[in-house]
Amino acid sequence: SGRWAKAEAILREMEDKCGAPTENLRQVADAMTAEMHAGLASDGGSKLKMLISFIDNLPTGDEKGLFYALDLGGTNFRVIRVQLGGKESTIRRESEEFSIPPHLMVGSSHELFDFIAGALAKFVATENEDFHVLPGKLRELGFTFSFPVRQLSIASGTLIKWTKGFHIEDAVGEDVVGELTKAMQRVGLDMRVAALINDTVGTLAGGKYNNPDVVAAVILGTGTNAAYIERTHAIPKWQGPLPKSGEMVINMEWGNFRSSHLPLTEYDQSLDAESLNPGEQIFEKLMSGMYLGEIVRRVLMRMAEEASFFGDNIPPKLHIPFIIRTPDMAAMHHDNSSDLKVVGCKLKDVLEVHNSSLKMRKMIVEICDIVASRGARLAAAGIFGILKKLGRNTVKDGEKQQRSVIAVDGGLFEHYTKFRNCLNRTLQELLGEDTAENIVTELSNDGSGTGAALLAASYSQYL
Ligand code: ADP
Ligand code: MG
Repeated sequence: SGRWAKAEAILREMEDKCGAPTENLRQVADAMTAEMHAGLASDGGSKLKMLISFIDNLPTGDEKGLFYALDLGGTNFRVIRVQLGGKESTIRRESEEFSIPPHLMVGSSHELFDFIAGALAKFVATENEDFHVLPGKLRELGFTFSFPVRQLSIASGTLIKWTKGFHIEDAVGEDVVGELTKAMQRVGLDMRVAALINDTVGTLAGGKYNNPDVVAAVILGTGTNAAYIERTHAIPKWQGPLPKSGEMVINMEWGNFRSSHLPLTEYDQSLDAESLNPGEQIFEKLMSGMYLGEIVRRVLMRMAEEASFFGDNIPPKLHIPFIIRTPDMAAMHHDNSSDLKVVGCKLKDVLEVHNSSLKMRKMIVEICDIVASRGARLAAAGIFGILKKLGRNTVKDGEKQQRSVIAVDGGLFEHYTKFRNCLNRTLQELLGEDTAENIVTELSNDGSGTGAALLAASYSQYL
């Protein structure tokens, strides 16, 4: 009928606009490389902040002692303790995860940090004899804070802006370590922040600790970001003393990347316009877990309005922003059953649509595929851009190619198999067969938590 033809037309138009063919991805990668150069040349020189992390040495494995980490950056936050015993002994590790009450994500700085410090204090109270703090020393903490921060030193930095649904006005411009330290004092917790780090930097540290071939780290979770190891002489804006290592970890804040080559659609434009941070984090809004399901909802909304996709009435639930979460989308996308019963169940549970036809379900799976593939392909283009910046994107003639590993952390990459597979396939496609053998992504589960504890250890006051 005309209804299906119209829905089909909307779908094809969207598929066309989301295409991201290889040639287009190469342009995106080149734009990424160019922006990296610009962001390293001067502050404010690019959409990419290319933030200096103050990490000029990554953990070696010789670190010893008890260290804590606190990971704040999305919908959950985690507290971790690790006992490090140097190269000979394995890490002993305990952690606990808390979800952040939504009202604290848009309240006051005081309330958020009190909540975090309170949870940390409770966790510290459960420390048993397997963990030993050096006699007479304070416990030390690696603070993973996954928002853009202008770092002032290894253990201080001011918040530039919130992302990923956080919006706490009075914290912007404040030193987040100062805020945390004050909150720890308020709850009577005696602990010192040894390192303030971004989750990408933690993932890089944790990843490289496990595999020395790691050159960069990418987060694909609620949001997205990347960090990599840069040579200091390639950072014109760095005015500080040159580190002995000759290297510095750069937190790219790639979520804020944008380029005229990005395949943006009307759905992305309205999502952005109605977001908490319009005009910002455009790359992130195309590929991260917070947004993928919401893009799908917006496509379905148009199909419901213009093609009566769900019948004469628009399902009321479909009007609610973010009602389709990315894990729901992934579950539908991964549905292997012949009658797509998972899709049917999700439509019932999430949208209260009770009578979905197979045809309808198939089209929904297709929408998920288009949205996820575009995001995964763009993420691969971003990684390819970093490899180009590092000169690791081709096999050097006559030389044996070094291995390059990209450590990836985040719930999206970990759980959304079709997204992960598409990213890896696209990266191979961009690299070409010969090079692809030597360049791989590696899931670095909880790199950011363990990485933060390792960094706290390597920058400890007491070593
Ligand atoms: P964060 O990024 O908040 O630190 P995670 O790395 O755990 O936390 O990522 C959580 C995000 O990963 C969720 O917001 C969600 O978007 C995405 N995610 C989690 N599970 C799945 C899943 N099964 N399928 C697709 N995406 C998922
Ligand atoms: Mg995280």
